[in-house]
Amino acid sequence: MTTYKRVLLKLSGESLMGEQAYGIDQERLNDYAMQIKEAVALGVQIGIVIGGGNIFRGLSGAAKGFDRVKGDQMGMLATVINSLALNSALTANGVKSKVLTAIRMEPVGEFYSKDKAIETLERGEVAIFSAGTGNPYFTTDTGSSLRGIEIEADAMLKGTRVDGIYTADPEKDPTATKFDRISFDEIYNRGLKVMDLTATTMCKENHLPIVVFNMDKKGNLLKVLSGEDIGTLVHV
Ligand code: UDP
Repeated sequence: MTTYKRVLLKLSGESLMGEQAYGIDQERLNDYAMQIKEAVALGVQIGIVIGGGNIFRGLSGAAKGFDRVKGDQMGMLATVINSLALNSALTANGVKSKVLTAIRMEPVGEFYSKDKAIETLERGEVAIFSAGTGNPYFTTDTGSSLRGIEIEADAMLKGTRVDGIYTADPEKDPTATKFDRISFDEIYNRGLKVMDLTATTMCKENHLPIVVFNMDKKGNLLKVLSGEDIGTLVHV
């Protein structure tokens, strides 16, 4: 039994680095692919957005002197690289998936449309939405909110390297405590940085709940999908 029929899974580009300082750690990539395989076996339809911070970030590029728009385009291409890596790892694990791109670049991936996304999901394949929103000045969190809303997902599952949303950054403040549930309004009121505000507001206004959980612990994706109380649920 699963709580969700269709989800948008957001994976962080940074987590893909594993213990490395840059790029893609094969072991972490394979672990993600295996967790996704378990989720597909439950019959859940899964759309995935993956970040690009392990390869390139527009803002840090701009700080080094790149034009911001070019830097963001480089960042979006980085998400395509990660998406291809995940696509390949899923294939190696016997899971069918399709890479859709927000920027036209056949034959690397098919150009995204809602119809194509839904067809893919209904065939039981994983849809990987790459190149974020296709626009500069956005993030893959916003891309996830957008795609999650478009595909009418039951929830956005935000896989991170922490166990959920805390009163403060648990990696910096040992007294921080975790929320099991929190409303969007409380996130604003407390100034918590769960996602950027554009992404958060899109979810709030379109009633897309978010589950923030630790994707780096094996088996956690299955636990979230099975309704186990891990992570933090963000509700309207
Ligand atoms: N990006 C963008 N538009 C989008 C999604 C991503 O311009 O719709 C770029 C942006 O430069 C970002 C990079 O792609 O820094 C990687 O995306 P991610 O969301 O991982 O970036 P982060 O939040 O880690 O900076």
